[in-house]
Amino acid sequence: MSSTYYVLCVSHDPAILSTEHRTPGDAADTIKAGSALHPGCDLVIERVSGGPVEIGCPPADSRGSGPRCYHRDVRWVEVEWLRVLSLAYTSTDPKVVEAVRQSRFTCWPQERLHRLRGSLGIEDEARERR
Ligand SMILES: [Zn+2]
Ligand SMILES: [Zn+2]
Repeated sequence: MSSTYYVLCVSHDPAILSTEHRTPGDAADTIKAGSALHPGCDLVIERVSGGPVEIGCPPADSRGSGPRCYHRDVRWVEVEWLRVLSLAYTSTDPKVVEAVRQSRFTCWPQERLHRLRGSLGIEDEARERR
C-alpha cells in the first residue's frame, strides 16, 4: 500500500492539516521552505498508509517553532510507540512518570503529543486525568 505524507501544524490544538505530499522529501522540503499557511508554526509530518503509521519530527532549524531537537534529518517514530509514550505521560503510576521524565524525549513533549491525539487515536479522556 502506498503512503501519503501530511504536514500537520501542532501549534494548533488539536493539530490541523496543512499540506498533502506523495513523498517524505516533498513534505520535508515544504516545511524547510516555510509554509505560507503556517508561518512560525511547529510542524510535523504524518505518514498515512491505511491509517497513521509514523510521525516525523523535522529538524528544529527548519520549523518556525517547537522543540529544539538536535537531529539534522527528519526523525521518524512509529505511531504505536508515540501512543504508548503519550499514555505514559498521563500515567497515575509515579514510577512510569519518573521514567518518562528522566528519558527526556526531546522531540515529543507531552503537549505536542496531546495535540496529535487525533493521529495517535487517543481521546480527550487523557486530558481529564491530568
Ligand atoms: Zn499553524
Ligand atoms: Zn525532533
